[in-house]
Parts: sequence; C-alpha cells; structure tokens
Amino acid sequence: MDAARWVPAYVALGSNLDDPRAQVERAFAALGTLRDSRLVARSALYRSPPFGPVSQPDFVNAVAGMLTRLDPHAMLAGLQEIEARLGRERPAVRWGPRRIDLDLLVHGTSRVGEPGLEVPHAGIAERAFVLVPLAEVAPDLDVPGLGRVATLAARLDSTGLERLAA
Ligand code: ATP
Ligand code: CA
Ligand code: CA
Repeated sequence: MDAARWVPAYVALGSNLDDPRAQVERAFAALGTLRDSRLVARSALYRSPPFGPVSQPDFVNAVAGMLTRLDPHAMLAGLQEIEARLGRERPAVRWGPRRIDLDLLVHGTSRVGEPGLEVPHAGIAERAFVLVPLAEVAPDLDVPGLGRVATLAARLDSTGLERLAA
C-alpha cells in the first residue's frame, strides 16, 4: 500500500432490525472513526422494500463517501469489524434481516474479483437503493466497468424507494 495515497471509496449502509434509522446513524458515526480513513459525504436515508426472497421488514439504506488510505481488503476488514461491533450476528441468511450491513461499493479505480471480495460490489447496477443515494453524493463518479452513477441511476425503476426527512 502506498501510505501517502488517499483514494475515494463509497460504502453502502443498510439495516432492517432494531430501529434501522438509529443503526444507520451509528454506522455513519463508526465510519467516521475508521482508521486511515475520513468520512467526507453522506447521503440522506432511504426506506426501501426488502430485496430478495426472504419476507422481512423494510430496510433503511444510505451511502457514505470516504477518503481512505486502506486497500480494498483492509477496508472490507474494517467494515466487517464495525458490523460486528454494532451487533450484527453472523452467519445470517444472505439478503435476510440484519441490524447492519456495510458493503464496499467502489474503491478508487480498483477492480477485485475474489470469492470474498468483489469491487465494484456486484449488483450495484440493479439496485436503486444503492444507486439513488450514491447519485446524491457522487453523481459523476465513474464506476469501474459500469459507467457514470447518474446514468446508471436514471435507468432504474426506483418505485418504492422513499427518501426520509432528516
Ligand atoms: P450482497 O453482497 O448481495 O449485498 P449481503 O450484503 O447480504 O449480499 P453478506 O452476507 O453481508 O451479503 O456478505 C457476504 C460476503 O460478501 C461477505 O462475507 C464478503 O466477504 C463478501 N463480499 C464480497 N464483496 C464484498 C464487498 N464489496 N463489500 C462487502 N462484502 C463483500
Ligand atoms: Ca448488501
Ligand atoms: Ca454485506
């Protein structure tokens, strides 16, 4: 890792258990303390219907814009540490209910394709609950391999996604 290099990175936050808005706020606060990183932008919170096959409560979603000197693997480890600290229980059902979920969406121009780490995060292009808040903090971001965020967001049906008042 080049210790001097700060890279823009974007993190998706999601919760649908134990007062989801409060959990997302706690996660933002925790991201503000992530080592070798700075929280520089946060989207509004959004309420979204659950994704995937499991019947469960609505989610609250948001996106954080960070600057980081961590490489993608170290950043994922940091996010997982925050999830654990905030009381996420593992293993949980994939796409099932959870108190907090932190996904590394984009890390500079990095492209990683490993079993435990895919960057840009898989599914960005299909998820309004990711792209709409991401477009608030970084509309002109070029997602490696996918293109401009605002263009990707405009293609999606965001029915059911509700921007929550501050
Ligand atoms: P999805 O990744 O489709 O949103 P999920 O968030 O419900 O599903 P999890 O159970 O939170 O999935 O995580 C499953 C695994 O995904 C993690 O153990 C992690 O290793 C892996 N993973 C791969 N790429 C990423 C990434 N960019 N950010 C976070 N986790 C990732
Ligand atoms: Ca996720
Ligand atoms: Ca996850």
